[in-house]
Amino acid sequence: MPAVTVEDTTTLPRVPLPAPRTVRRRTRSVTTAPSGFEGEGFPVRRAFAGVDLRALDPFIHMDQMGEVEYAPGEPKGTSWHPHRGFETVTYIIDGVFEHADSHGGGGTISNGDTQWMTAGGGVLHIERPPEHLVVSGGLFHGLQLWVNLPRAQKWVEPRYQDLRADSSVLLASPDAGAFLRVIAGDVAGHTGPGSTYTPMAMVHATVAPGATLDLPWRPDFNALVYVLSGSGSVGIDGAPVSTGQLAVLGPGDTVTVNGAVRQESRTPALDVVILGGLPIREPIAMYGPFVMNTRQEVQDAFADFSAGRLGSIPAQYVPHSDVRGGTDQPE
Ligand code: MN
Repeated sequence: MPAVTVEDTTTLPRVPLPAPRTVRRRTRSVTTAPSGFEGEGFPVRRAFAGVDLRALDPFIHMDQMGEVEYAPGEPKGTSWHPHRGFETVTYIIDGVFEHADSHGGGGTISNGDTQWMTAGGGVLHIERPPEHLVVSGGLFHGLQLWVNLPRAQKWVEPRYQDLRADSSVLLASPDAGAFLRVIAGDVAGHTGPGSTYTPMAMVHATVAPGATLDLPWRPDFNALVYVLSGSGSVGIDGAPVSTGQLAVLGPGDTVTVNGAVRQESRTPALDVVILGGLPIREPIAMYGPFVMNTRQEVQDAFADFSAGRLGSIPAQYVPHSDVRGGTDQPE
């Protein structure tokens, strides 16, 4: 698992030791992500399946994409599709993904890069591996997180943040047994590069076998720990977790993650994504690619999409035959 790695974690700034009276959060639930397929058929784990939206708030959905080793010709993506009312955050750990949207956003992300797309009032986009990866095949592993927007911000202009791997803020636990990449939010006084509409934090942590991470966490944030790979335990109660499991933690001001002493050889450490944010606490009406407050707003989004009001596919991405508009057809 490359993402961003460092030779020597002892050279990094450390998160502080927990305060003497810190409240380490307790595990409320551990769920196992079912496997499914997304887009043209790339394998995903539905990280939040079976968890009450109120426990996830402000997050609504997360897919772990892969990890998969594609044969030549096999890599898959999505076709052009719309979104409205929330943000998609795509973090690539291994491999390469291309993105383009109807608002002029887009780029190529790989090994530790993140694209943070605010759909806001509406956007069309496409997410797929680049042509050379389709030809060659190869390793692909990442995740896509959906972040809700509050009612007042569901109609903001679409925005695209291209967060390069080297802009992640790198930290270590006090004994350097855990390595942290802060992608967004403030963690122990260190602020990641992602700009968010509501307060939240997103961290990718690698916890060495036998190491403990006690991470200061805002008490008004919720706390979710999703295991990308490896095994260990979470919370003051030490609930066991392994690859593809999500732990929802209860109240407190410290998130505790322990790496199991024994790891499988193919996953030498425990890798987790730690998420938390200030809950929005608004009604959620979501269907397909739209996340709104009411069913009527979802119906309106489908109508607006059908009428072309969520944007149009940029000309350079329209298939050649469509661009020609049928001029080679007999009249
Ligand atoms: Mn999408």
